[in-house]
Amino acid sequence: MSGLGKKFRLPEAFDQAVPGEYRMLPCRFVSLDDNRYVLTNEVGEYLVVTRPQLEQFVRKTVPFHGDFYHDLKSKHFLIDDDSNVAVDLLALKYRTKAQRISQFTALHLFVVSLRCDYTCQYCQVSRQTDDKLAYDMSQETADRALEFVFRSPSPAVKIEFQGGEPLLNFPIIRYVVDQAKRINENHDKYIQFVITTNLSLLTDEILSFCLAHDICLSTSLDGPQDLHNLNRPRPGRNGYQLTVEGIKKAQAVLGRDKVGALMTTTEASLPRVREIIDTYLSLGMDAIFLRALSPYGFAVKTRQAYKYDVDRWFEFYKEGLNYVLEINRQGYPFVELYASMIINKIFSPFGTGYVDLQSPSGMAISAIVYNYDGDIYASDEARMLAEMGDKSFRLGSVHHDSYEDVILSDTVLDTLEATLSESLPMCNDCGFLSYCGTDPVYHYATQGDAVGHKATSGFCSKNMKIFRYLFTLLEDDPEARRILLSWVRP
Ligand code: SF4
Repeated sequence: MSGLGKKFRLPEAFDQAVPGEYRMLPCRFVSLDDNRYVLTNEVGEYLVVTRPQLEQFVRKTVPFHGDFYHDLKSKHFLIDDDSNVAVDLLALKYRTKAQRISQFTALHLFVVSLRCDYTCQYCQVSRQTDDKLAYDMSQETADRALEFVFRSPSPAVKIEFQGGEPLLNFPIIRYVVDQAKRINENHDKYIQFVITTNLSLLTDEILSFCLAHDICLSTSLDGPQDLHNLNRPRPGRNGYQLTVEGIKKAQAVLGRDKVGALMTTTEASLPRVREIIDTYLSLGMDAIFLRALSPYGFAVKTRQAYKYDVDRWFEFYKEGLNYVLEINRQGYPFVELYASMIINKIFSPFGTGYVDLQSPSGMAISAIVYNYDGDIYASDEARMLAEMGDKSFRLGSVHHDSYEDVILSDTVLDTLEATLSESLPMCNDCGFLSYCGTDPVYHYATQGDAVGHKATSGFCSKNMKIFRYLFTLLEDDPEARRILLSWVRP
């Protein structure tokens, strides 16, 4: 302590109020454009300020009783002699935002088969051809995985069936749903089920089962017919037709709100974002998630992941988001899901559970993956990396390891420690920190370590561009602001 004292002033030196002067609370700032800065605090409240205002604030020369002073005070950027509950209030808001960390793990992914009837070039799961039964999950593996599910403290769990094509192993889906409901009679968790499927194998029997058990379907739809079939080739070249027929049939039986779709952006998608969104609209969908390709699995083997850079992808995203706003202006409520998650991080006291926008990383504590063979991975991306031969983020096996072995493994704890944005180089100073997250597998795959060098990171660059664009819309376009705020969940 005496050694520290030589370099640093004692804590009390920072806590002494000078009568009549305000004290700054922890905050960060980042440039929005040439003239403005986004000033944020630990709980994600923000003010957009000019450079003179920012200088005034940090020099503690903001005049009392002016609007700017009141804005800073009400949003917890400063306290003064009258603000005796402000720090407690700030702490309460921080606890509310961080609450989900104590309620891990909400999302449990069951990879019930690696087999697939498609041969997508960008496939991120390194599928097997559809006759290799050795790549199916067994009942024994499913039972062990369910034990892990019910050890999770989270009062709400979502079990998502993935592949390959999970409907190629529908008997195990049926088994897991029945078993989970039976086990839950003693746990009383709120359980949801989702099947992520290309819909080509959808039958009336499967739909009846989904209806009976309130199961949602999530599919892949990359846009109009030629683009979808180019991105997602299937023997017979009828992938689009089967997907669209499946969506319509599932919507009719389960309801529109039970059927969602995801798209992936390939090089061929870049000039066609409006057509892609129009395809979603034509099917009565109310949302789209404009997603870039991830550098894993077949996307790397076929080099699809490297065919466009972040700048080109952002132009695609911006055009798409602007089109989504235009659709809303015309009276049709339609959501872009990535923007919606960020907007919720900015304006909702609860934030979002989206794995890539968490600090520490959501791996294992937001989502966990049980592979067909019982291996456990920290995230879906970690499994994709393993399929490429790198098992750095394998956490263990449902067959050989206990829940404690897995959740308290060095891989989980070291990665969580290494992904607290508040302590990461560049992130710790970034004004967007409260809205951002970390993606250890992405940074490991692209830069060789889980922390990553943010100045050259595609993840950081993409998020920075989106944050700046959203704040510009919020500040400069009242109609866009109204629409974006309508996406905040109560
Ligand atoms: S990844 Fe980039 S945008 Fe996100 S908090 Fe870190 S520095 Fe900011």
